[in-house]
Amino acid sequence: MLYYSTRDTASSPRTVTVAEAIKEGLAPDGGLYLPEAVPALSAADFEALCSMDYPERAAFILSRYLTDYDPSLLAEDCRAAYSPEKFPRTEDPAAFGARPAPIRALDGDIYALELWHGPTSAFKDMALQIMPRLLSRALVMTGERRTAQILVATSGDTGKAALEGYRDVEGVAITVFYPTGGVSPMQARQMQTTRGNNVNVVAVRGNFDDAQNGVKRIFADRDLAEEADLCGFFFSSANSINWGRLVPQIVYYISAYCDLVKAGRIPMGGEVNVAVPTGNFGNIFAAYLARQMGLPVKRLICASNRNDVLTEFIRTGVYNREREFYKTVSPSMDILISSNLERLLRVMGGAALTGELMASLGREGKYRAPDELMERIRSVFTGYSLDEAGTLSVIGETWKKEHYLTDPHTAVGLGAVKQYRAETGDAAPVILASTASPFKFAGPVSEALGIHMDSSGGLYDGLRALSSATGWAVPVPLAETETLPVRFERVIDPAGMAGIPFEH
Ligand SMILES: *Cc1c(COP(=O)(O)O)cnc(C)c1O
Repeated sequence: MLYYSTRDTASSPRTVTVAEAIKEGLAPDGGLYLPEAVPALSAADFEALCSMDYPERAAFILSRYLTDYDPSLLAEDCRAAYSPEKFPRTEDPAAFGARPAPIRALDGDIYALELWHGPTSAFKDMALQIMPRLLSRALVMTGERRTAQILVATSGDTGKAALEGYRDVEGVAITVFYPTGGVSPMQARQMQTTRGNNVNVVAVRGNFDDAQNGVKRIFADRDLAEEADLCGFFFSSANSINWGRLVPQIVYYISAYCDLVKAGRIPMGGEVNVAVPTGNFGNIFAAYLARQMGLPVKRLICASNRNDVLTEFIRTGVYNREREFYKTVSPSMDILISSNLERLLRVMGGAALTGELMASLGREGKYRAPDELMERIRSVFTGYSLDEAGTLSVIGETWKKEHYLTDPHTAVGLGAVKQYRAETGDAAPVILASTASPFKFAGPVSEALGIHMDSSGGLYDGLRALSSATGWAVPVPLAETETLPVRFERVIDPAGMAGIPFEH
């Protein structure tokens, strides 16, 4: 299977192998890579998947996209990436489904798919534990001798998950840029205390888009690429613009469906809706791909926080990034440019239109998609947003009624499900992507529960207070950052970003 760029308008586009696509990250024309066709799963495939464990399901699905990878090596990599050492079994007796992504049934046939039992307590581990292995193989397959310098712009969770995935991996170095104040205290602490000899972490003054644009500029700069080449390295990405990040995310939607069938919650072939708290549109695009592969998903519910650029787009067809930027209690969704939406535009609207819309976004900060395209998008996607008070009230209510803790991102997703159901009456079972441990955002979660936080107490006192009030254990990866030394404290302006990778 070959891959093309979303911005290639040639009648026969330039194509690359999947190893090249994963190695490059962003296409040379600034577009994102897509497979020439989405592989279909048959009824027999679904039956087979249901009898596999998670690493086997992952290898099965990855092999459909990573066609030039050796299947036995893929199986080995999946086994290692999703090992019990990296993703311990949940201690929640009410959870069911395959480790590393257990499911918790909530009232009204809503199934929280807990994607945060990995090394950094956020869903990004699900992709970033396997992706470095895919890149390592890609370097060998393409005869690459230079070091891959991974550049990451993070709104919080990607940075730490990428650092954990790539640290001390042979042939790779990683630099993470995070926006000052745009991440939670715990997220900052997790990054600042990262171990490993090939890692660098730098805070950038500004918001996530400033950091992401800085990284995009480095990728687009030919002179910098040449200079890097002379120094024996090249730039690559771990953001969800990289195809190697997206494919592993398809797996858990299909896996969850199988687990619901196995648990007798839905019949094989029965339709579900999928709700995803969305920032960069990566996780929900993976759910879309699962649907295109044949997963019986009726609707994809795209949930946003107060930065509701996607909700507005789905409703009006106007994508407008020229708006006020809000810092919210769900910082990993504080994004005004959802990069992966470009993939959807390309798949549903074609290359020429995608090029036009992206040019307009670059020029004017907005675009209007034609009605015909919007109809196609709305036949699959629906969008809802929650403000800050709404988010906290979902956390509080869910705890009060169901004794289930949701982090603010997951709460945005759950609130969107409730709005969707109230508006449409569609009561089909919902798979809700639960994207972070509530302890990663202990401040707002405690506030929502009405737990008194002593303002003199530090970050970790807050975690302990939430733990003792709920009886939920603090995840080990978060607890251990209390005693790890802080290694990275630098703060720079966006203009200084290009120099940083050369310091390695
Ligand atoms: C990254 C992240 C999201 C948003 O995912 P996208 O793929 O960027 O849409 C949601 N919740 C949490 C906790 C995250 O870390």
